[in-house]
Amino acid sequence: MLSRIITAAIATRAVLACDSCYGEPEHDVVLTRHVRRMQPDAQNATSGPKAPLEWGQINFLHTTDTHGWLEGHIKEQNYGADWGDFVSFTKGMKQKAKHLGVDLLLVDTGDLHDGAGLSDATKPNGNVSNAIFENIDYDLLTIGNHELYVTEIAYETFTNFSKVYGDKYLTSNVQISNPATGQWEYIGKKYRYFTTEQGLRIMAFGVLFDFTGNSNVSKVIKAAELVQQQWFLDAVNYTEPIDLFVVTGHNPVRRNDTSSTIGKVVDAIRKVHPDTPIQAFGGHSHIRDFAVYDTKATGLESGRYCETLGWLALSGIESSGYGTMAPSGVPNPTRKPIPPKANATSSGASSSNGTSDLLVARRYLDWNRLTFAYHAEGSQKYTTFDTAKGKNTTNEITSYRQSLNLTSLYGCAPQSYCQTCKPFLADGNLFGLLQTALSTVVINETRKDTPRLIIINTGSVRFDLAKGPFTYDDSFIVSPFDDAFQFIPDVPYSQASKVLGILNAGAFQKKRDLSTADFNFAPVLADRDICIDPPLTHASGMAKRSNARIIRRQAADPSPGYTTKDDFGTDGDDTIHKAIPRYSQPNDLQANASFPTDGSLPETVDLVFLDFIASYIVSALNGADVGGNYSLSDVSYYLPKEFTTNSYLPAYAKVAWQENVPDCPVGTGIGSS
Ligand SMILES: [Zn+2]
Ligand SMILES: [Zn+2]
Repeated sequence: MLSRIITAAIATRAVLACDSCYGEPEHDVVLTRHVRRMQPDAQNATSGPKAPLEWGQINFLHTTDTHGWLEGHIKEQNYGADWGDFVSFTKGMKQKAKHLGVDLLLVDTGDLHDGAGLSDATKPNGNVSNAIFENIDYDLLTIGNHELYVTEIAYETFTNFSKVYGDKYLTSNVQISNPATGQWEYIGKKYRYFTTEQGLRIMAFGVLFDFTGNSNVSKVIKAAELVQQQWFLDAVNYTEPIDLFVVTGHNPVRRNDTSSTIGKVVDAIRKVHPDTPIQAFGGHSHIRDFAVYDTKATGLESGRYCETLGWLALSGIESSGYGTMAPSGVPNPTRKPIPPKANATSSGASSSNGTSDLLVARRYLDWNRLTFAYHAEGSQKYTTFDTAKGKNTTNEITSYRQSLNLTSLYGCAPQSYCQTCKPFLADGNLFGLLQTALSTVVINETRKDTPRLIIINTGSVRFDLAKGPFTYDDSFIVSPFDDAFQFIPDVPYSQASKVLGILNAGAFQKKRDLSTADFNFAPVLADRDICIDPPLTHASGMAKRSNARIIRRQAADPSPGYTTKDDFGTDGDDTIHKAIPRYSQPNDLQANASFPTDGSLPETVDLVFLDFIASYIVSALNGADVGGNYSLSDVSYYLPKEFTTNSYLPAYAKVAWQENVPDCPVGTGIGSS
């Protein structure tokens, strides 16, 4: 209780200190009235938005790749809001839109699973988190690849989730075999044609990238085929008028991203409608991005893991009898989409490059209460920011976190450890920590004195490890996979010591000239990190700031976070941050243990590795440079099968992180140490 009060006091002080950051008095009132919701153990942000949002004729709030992070980031100040806060925020923003006489649509572009305890601690995965997610009245949603890996989850999505959202859940190119009939059916709807509250007529699609890793009960129709299907052509060439196309997709918005197919869909629409505005919402590559396709078509991508909420405002859509183009009392979009030169290479696309009245604004909001409260201001008194539904959702998350044991504590992480913000194995680098953890807890008691090398792939890690309580929840967040530890006993050290280098130079890692066939490397390793997780910032330093007023309003030392560069430049981030550095990391990591204390090298070692890379290990040992003669029959389990990549960090925390238990001091977030 005491710590709760202290936290509240700190939060209040931070808010007061920030008063001077905001010029207008009403902001002060809003901020000093600040009330904590979020999860009880979460923190609030200390730096807030740079300026009010631009509101246009139609506006969108966009989430993507939430991956179960509905509790928010408990140990990161920038992203501390939970789904209940988001529920209240969207309610307030919808009211604000109504008051302004404009439209606001809520869009999600998939990947609801695999990333945090709330989704991953249940069977089937997503059982609880989907129900919580459904508290948002989205207007348009589409499916992600993480809804399709596991048959049970694909069917859950089909029989439950898609039915909750009905006409709004769009899977224009994803079908499933209906278990009742054995027939292929679309999981959601193919398209949605609707008229907004304010009278805009919209045709929307939902297009998953050309994903191939799905289980065999679903079918992903490639975009090239989709755009030739008669139903699609009929929908594009619809019998009713269309003022705006909305292309949602679990699909990178940058059309030269190798996995993106959004460009194909945009081009197909352009062939029929050279002048109708097209707005795309993408995902999957886990970045903040905004792409301009032509003078009337753009795409927004809104990050990952409930770190980012995307905002998009459009004005200038021609429509008969549509209300407010430029709502008053708020900023309006002012920028015309002009495609950057490098982008204008879409061969065969009949791009719209004529004169256009279309004006666009985009913003990437940090997922925290300070942000939500700031932007919802004016919609209602801040004292009533929290809606009953929002509060219920927050409480529901809290009780599920308890009943699923997500808060159960293994130890207190003394500092934050990141995957890429520090050089490999430097202090604060996650892989340095993992090396220590593997040496400490991957021990077969009967062979504990036998020297060993332990190899894991760095792709077995999903997220950074933040300073503070290391819980059951964090075991899913950081190292979620269930790969067991196998070994080959008594391998000559001269051979075993060469394996790491061979793996790191392997063909799947696109390094050196070893062909795939040389080591029989299946794409499984590359696929292991099933969503692409790039760094959250560019290392190129601070975003350029052209607006002196903005500089003054920001805290002198911005906190580390996103510094995004997109087709509109570097002013998209709603809260200004300093960049988090990025260092490349190798694909595999090796730890050793029980080596001779005199510093000499052992004759032989136990070579320990994750079960799913066993065949690669054997291939490496048998390579010409190494000269081994092993087969998979030499491989056995080093530890019980139940002890996996999901187990060793909890085991390490129980041994090494008992200081400060149970009142762990929490840090401010990744990259801020
Ligand atoms: Zn994803
Ligand atoms: Zn994805």
